[in-house]
Amino acid sequence: RFSRGIGPVECPLDREELGRSSWSFLHTMAAYYPDTPTTEQQGEMTQFINLFSKVFPCDECAEDLRSRLKTNQPDASSRHNLSQWLCRLHNDINIRLGKPEYDCSKVDERWRDGWKDGSCD
Ligand code: FAD
Repeated sequence: RFSRGIGPVECPLDREELGRSSWSFLHTMAAYYPDTPTTEQQGEMTQFINLFSKVFPCDECAEDLRSRLKTNQPDASSRHNLSQWLCRLHNDINIRLGKPEYDCSKVDERWRDGWKDGSCD
């Protein structure tokens, strides 16, 4: 969507755009979480994710996330564990939406370090 040669029109997000931006934020947040978080940081991250599921502005998505959190609370015990927990959560949602599963061994390259072939350098 372009308007009169002044660049792309900036429109409200649809569900797909909101989802992509939100996953970018969530995976990046996990990628920079401490390796050895304090008890307080672990509690805050767990609270944040539970609150996120209450305020996420896609009702169906938020409801689905809240029901997943009932049996699958965040593992905020380390950067690695949080990143892997989030990758598995995203994969559960990918499956529900008929999208391919992501290889969780690649999350650090995807969201923190860039690809080993240097294509993000
Ligand atoms: P996205 O799923 O948005 O992924 C973006 C990028 O993340 C991918 O291109 C890939 O590089 C990377 N990626 C993919 N999988 C993983 C993974 N497992 N771990 C790490 N990185 C990965 N949409 C609905 O229609 N119904 C819903 O109920 C719904 N619930 C949602 C709940 C949440 C919490 C969020 C954040 C989004 C939800 N969405 C939902 C939106 C949906 O998940 C997608 O964001 C949207 O459909 C756009 O998909 P996409 O194919 O562009 O890739």
